[in-house]
Amino acid sequence: MSAEKLLYKGKAKSMYETADPRVLRVWFRDEASAFNGVRVEQLPGKGEINNKINAFVMQFLANEGIPTHFIGLDGPEHSLVRPLKMLPVECVIRNRAAGGIVKRLQMPLGTEFSTPIFEFFYKNDALGDPMVNESHIITFGWATAEQIVDMKLLTQRVNALLSKLLADKGMILVDLKLEFGLNDGMLTLGDEISPDGCRIWDSETKKILDKDRFRQELGEVVEHYREIAKRLGVPA
Ligand code: 5GP
Repeated sequence: MSAEKLLYKGKAKSMYETADPRVLRVWFRDEASAFNGVRVEQLPGKGEINNKINAFVMQFLANEGIPTHFIGLDGPEHSLVRPLKMLPVECVIRNRAAGGIVKRLQMPLGTEFSTPIFEFFYKNDALGDPMVNESHIITFGWATAEQIVDMKLLTQRVNALLSKLLADKGMILVDLKLEFGLNDGMLTLGDEISPDGCRIWDSETKKILDKDRFRQELGEVVEHYREIAKRLGVPA
């Protein structure tokens, strides 16, 4: 595996070429980073639990008809995926107020929205992933008008499916970040879906189960990711 060419190293994942140009290998590392890489720590076991949660969720979504890059698990911390030409935007959907929107609009934490709020962000670490709108995306050529419509529809559908999946297991999907790319021109869900990129609370107690435990230094990060996995029935 170490002989494979590293294509990309992100904050929590590394992507490798394989012998098959139609297959890439993703390594979910144990690193956790917050505040655009200002705080980085090793959280033993995070890579493995995120790899398993991501596999479970991606397979669930594929079964529901969502096109994803996911092929299959390839060991405790690795998965195989299709190569995508990624669109440089993040799609964030919010069911309740937390994080960025609480700061930006000064609204009470946990405020429930009558309809989910959708936001685009430009993926650019140097700029701190600024919020952008459809006009920026089209003018700067980051995606077409049709791809924008499809990203919003797919994000809304994924949000509805995962909100229900989690609600049935006593959890609230507060918000969610998705990234898309093109697979032979077809808009496809890429990146990962794990507690690193969404907010999940316990329905009753509103206890934080996601990466905000790391951002807010609440401790027991991996233990709470494992709690999510256990409730979802993710195979150990
Ligand atoms: P916020 O805008 O409130 O900081 O984030 C909204 C949602 O998107 C949260 O669930 C957060 O975890 C996710 N998110 C936003 N940007 C990033 C990012 O760069 N990396 C990851 N892993 N998640 C992000």
